[in-house]
Amino acid sequence: MYDIIIVGAGPAGLTSALYAGRANKKVLVLEAKNYGGQIINASKVENYPGIESISGFDYATNLYNQVKKLGVEIKYETVLRIEEDRTVITDKDKYQARAVIIATGAANRKLNIEREQDFMGKGVSYCATCDGHFYKNKIVAVNGGGNTALQEAIYLSDIADKVYLIHRRDEFRGEEAYVSELKGKDNVEFIFNSNVVELNGDDKLESIVIKDNGGNTKELKVDGLFIAIGQAPSNEAFSNVVDINDYGYIEAIDDVRTKTDCIYVAGDTRVKELRQLTTAVGDGSIAATVAMKEMRKDN
Ligand code: NAP
Repeated sequence: MYDIIIVGAGPAGLTSALYAGRANKKVLVLEAKNYGGQIINASKVENYPGIESISGFDYATNLYNQVKKLGVEIKYETVLRIEEDRTVITDKDKYQARAVIIATGAANRKLNIEREQDFMGKGVSYCATCDGHFYKNKIVAVNGGGNTALQEAIYLSDIADKVYLIHRRDEFRGEEAYVSELKGKDNVEFIFNSNVVELNGDDKLESIVIKDNGGNTKELKVDGLFIAIGQAPSNEAFSNVVDINDYGYIEAIDDVRTKTDCIYVAGDTRVKELRQLTTAVGDGSIAATVAMKEMRKDN
């Protein structure tokens, strides 16, 4: 029996593990893919208080190492179901805990246009820091208007010859500091009020078609398209123990509680105002602290 099982090894989940591990609890973190969550793809994090600048990869790795040193167990298994009695069923095994924290974050949103899947790894990417180096001296486009898109465009502008930044509205959602930096780059061109509607090429991506809000279309020759249009959660597997809103996010009571006793939620996967690293680690620390407090009450 574990004290706490944490589902997800992103910043929220690992912060819960850090707090519970430091309190000497028996902790298991279950992660379907890799540790670090979405932040691992951020080329630079410059809005985390006290750290002027750090890569998302370094940040996530530091946190992972910090947690591992406490003796927290981390297993790479996909959670298929959580029972009300806190039995956690994975694709490999079954575990029991006194408390469960769901910190599953969100996955990259797809454009859902034809051939997007076919061109994945052949011109279409969701991560500039992972795939950007393939586009040295080439022409690329980034689609999106949030911090991820802005950061990807900045990162790619130092590698590629030309970067189109395509956004569906006439102003960006992301931070002004990134927009200013992009405005200073000669090889970056903003294309507003437009959507990517078509992907063309034989074996690999050769061009994209964009459509503006007036219905006019234009073909752009590009070698790569980086899709950075946000994330979507995937919480259907937990619908027996949590309430999920129309967008797939878990409804939280008092920030981290769910409708089921001793099952908590932390980070981007819950309904919240602001999804950032700071708010994810805030949730992670609160969820672990509340779980441990409520466990004490049980005894
Ligand atoms: P986001 O802030 O949700 O932005 C998504 C962008 O994609 C929006 O501009 C949105 O347009 C656009 N979009 C959504 N669906 C679309 C579609 N179907 N077609 C075309 N465009 C679409 O997502 P994000 O940029 O990935 O950031 C997620 C969170 O992580 C944010 O809170 C962000 O600040 C944070 N983050 C922080 C850092 C950091 O440096 N600390 C780095 C990366 C991300 P609209 O604007 O029209 O809605």
